[in-house]
Amino acid sequence: MTEGPSATSPHDAEIELLLAFMNTADAELGTDLLDSGSAWEHWVAERGIGEPGDVRAARQVRDALRASAGAPGAERVEWPRPWPVAVALLEGGPELTSEEAVGTLLLTATRLAVLGTWNRVKICPADTCLWAFYDRSRNRSRAWCSMRVCGNRAKSRNWRHRARR
Ligand SMILES: [Zn+2]
Repeated sequence: MTEGPSATSPHDAEIELLLAFMNTADAELGTDLLDSGSAWEHWVAERGIGEPGDVRAARQVRDALRASAGAPGAERVEWPRPWPVAVALLEGGPELTSEEAVGTLLLTATRLAVLGTWNRVKICPADTCLWAFYDRSRNRSRAWCSMRVCGNRAKSRNWRHRARR
């Protein structure tokens, strides 16, 4: 059975937006853009995705999404509240919408789940990286954000482990 690109594939721009949100915490640099309300407002305004709302709720939602994608050490996350979205009947048909940026991002994640591709959203297991990425491999087997960087880093780390033993 082949699994080529289909009409139900979500748009790359949506995936990139969602990943950018999930990567507002950067383990490599040790920074978190959502530590600051004004940085969050700026991030949202730049992308024109709705009202920024409360940055603490945005951080909780981001952490919950990362936990759902399998981020290590993120088992206990606080879910802020059920997130209200609306249905709008547009020219092309009914569509879920939100006036809030976090709602827009959650709708993107939900769409991936509905399309059965949420499990392609993964967190790189390298503890210095933890980068969220979208696994486009045919059999969804990609584990590292980039074989060239983290994959090789992990390989040499495993090698050092073995060498020590
Ligand atoms: Zn990585």
